[in-house]
Amino acid sequence: MAKIAILGYGNLGRGVECAVKQAPDMELVAVFTRRDPLTVKIQTAGVPVLNVSEMEAWKDKVDVLIICGGSATDLPVLTPKYASMFNVIDSFDTHAKIPQHFAAVDAAAKGANKIAMISVGWDPGMFSLNRVYAQSILPEGKDYTFWGKGVSQGHSDAVRRIKGVKNAKQYTCPVESALEAVRSGSMPELTTRQKHTRLVYVVAEEGADKAYIENAIKTMPNYFDEYDTTVNFISEEEFNKNHSGLAHGGFVIRTGKTGMNKEHTHVIEYSLKLDSNPEFTTSVLVAYARAALRMKANGQTGCKTVLDVPPAYLSTLSDEDLRAHCL
Ligand code: NDP
Repeated sequence: MAKIAILGYGNLGRGVECAVKQAPDMELVAVFTRRDPLTVKIQTAGVPVLNVSEMEAWKDKVDVLIICGGSATDLPVLTPKYASMFNVIDSFDTHAKIPQHFAAVDAAAKGANKIAMISVGWDPGMFSLNRVYAQSILPEGKDYTFWGKGVSQGHSDAVRRIKGVKNAKQYTCPVESALEAVRSGSMPELTTRQKHTRLVYVVAEEGADKAYIENAIKTMPNYFDEYDTTVNFISEEEFNKNHSGLAHGGFVIRTGKTGMNKEHTHVIEYSLKLDSNPEFTTSVLVAYARAALRMKANGQTGCKTVLDVPPAYLSTLSDEDLRAHCL
């Protein structure tokens, strides 16, 4: 049994706990938190919850540490730090900063003879794999990624910071007509505004200026100003009833041409419809934790991504069973 520990017990931390329970070859041995452990209640009986200050003592008792901190400020610090003590895996999703994160984690892991895997999840993660397969197979073509309909935590947080907002949830929605145009193989050029819309549900504080809130949302630079945004004010009761979930998903599509005169059009589409973004993301993390351990056993160290992993390493099935049932 591979011994798994979790660092950071938020949405992803809770998801890893569920995913490890479904993995026949893994067991959860510890949960580490930066908070007072007495305030963190986990679901699995008999597993200790410990403060991060105790982690060093666990160096030889954990096979893979799954780091579940936030991408903005936690992971750039936590993953390099703990890659010098443990084999680690994270879900770092700030795409533009992946090369920088990779370099820092690679240096730490190589120095400690450990393996580290970063940016594992669905995007980056499963979507990245599908982009690489599709681009390699159809070099003459065009890529499209659509997200949603799903909850964007970052955008929801940004709305919650506006004066007069009590609670808020933001859904990113793909524009159906744009999706259809892409699927037709016509390779349209699409602007940001043409691909996605944003839908916001707001619970306003009593007496708040709703016109101000709506305008502040729609004109917010980087987050909303490049999109068509609809703002709906709802009651707290309706919010709690209909908008407490963390569903997400999306589509990675590549259309390409083959033939001497590029006379044939092909469409490759990978889509995800996720009832729970964190539970799916952590299911991916756990499969790649298995792969990381196998790569380490084969002598590999340093930082890796999903692009470096042979698919068979993800599975609990033997190579013979995979050839018999999955080829
Ligand atoms: P959360 O905000 O739920 O948790 C982040 C951390 O916050 C936790 O690890 C926890 O650490 C800390 N925390 C502090 N106070 C609390 C509290 N009261 N309750 C819960 N946690 C608390 O983030 P998520 O788990 O939803 O997401 C983590 C990151 O995963 C995101 O930033 C996102 O970038 C990335 N992600 C990547 C995906 C991909 O496809 N690659 C998909 C989805 C998410 P501690 O216990 O130490 O206090």
